[in-house]
Amino acid sequence: MTRQLWAPWRLEYVGSADEQEGCIFCIAHEGADEEGLVVHRGRRAFVLLNRFPYSSGHLLIAPVRHIGDFAKLDDEEALEIHRLAGQGMGALADVYGPQGYNLGWNLGRIAGAGITDHVHLHLVPRWAGDTNFMPVLADVKVLPEHLTETRRKLAESWPS
Ligand SMILES: [Zn+2]
Repeated sequence: MTRQLWAPWRLEYVGSADEQEGCIFCIAHEGADEEGLVVHRGRRAFVLLNRFPYSSGHLLIAPVRHIGDFAKLDDEEALEIHRLAGQGMGALADVYGPQGYNLGWNLGRIAGAGITDHVHLHLVPRWAGDTNFMPVLADVKVLPEHLTETRRKLAESWPS
């Protein structure tokens, strides 16, 4: 029997990317934390909440530099993105206590990337049975208030 690979990052809201003016990562980085749903800022990379999450606390980790080529991330950026993912797990563990995580890079539209010119790592918390009660589109309807609250909680629980 074939078991299907569960890849939540492939469900990124591809439709919205084309209509967006400018790069959502660059806009988020330049603006206020609350507006861009920025959870944590590092030196060369930063963390924000996915506006179209697959689960509560679905984080995106991106380099500050507007760069679409994964292979061209420099050592500092690559290391900081990795470390921020680890810290993000710490904050998520504190706030939501997930039982596991999926981490993934979508490179290219065919691989499910909604935004192809600014690379980003998905960090998706997982719970036992979450695929059963979370239909694909359910979380697209998440209220902005909910995301604002999630952002605040995770920012406050970020490991120092
Ligand atoms: Zn950008």
